[in-house]
Amino acid sequence: MADCIFCKIAVKEIPADLIYEDENLVAFNDINPQAPVHFLVVPKKHIVNLLELGPADAGLLAQVHRVIVSLARKRGIADAGFRVVINTKENGGQTVPHLHFHVLGGRFMDWPPG
Ligand code: AMP
Ligand code: ZN
Repeated sequence: MADCIFCKIAVKEIPADLIYEDENLVAFNDINPQAPVHFLVVPKKHIVNLLELGPADAGLLAQVHRVIVSLARKRGIADAGFRVVINTKENGGQTVPHLHFHVLGGRFMDWPPG
């Protein structure tokens, strides 16, 4: 996707505070953190949102979750716990139309969110 900010981060056209990268995924700190630890795990493939996932993405999704757990441990939020959020379309509050997983920790996460 030519104009997608997360695609551009994935190919290093735009800088980001990268904390992880492999063949399929990047992870970077959110530019507007909502918690002491707030990073995004982002498939390099341009998938607009959850609704666009197909059966071929099963392995990718499993990998996303492994990487989330590994980074949560590394960032020191696994013991106390953390929250994973996938905002989807307008009512979900999605502002960047490229699937991403927010990982938030380092403070108590209220429920329900606002
Ligand atoms: P969402 O509202 O779920 O689409 O989340 C998009 C997130 O991306 C927001 O939390 C933004 O702060 C974050 N964001 C947008 N641009 C950047 C960027 N260049 N680097 C890091 N995070 C970004
Ligand atoms: Zn994209």
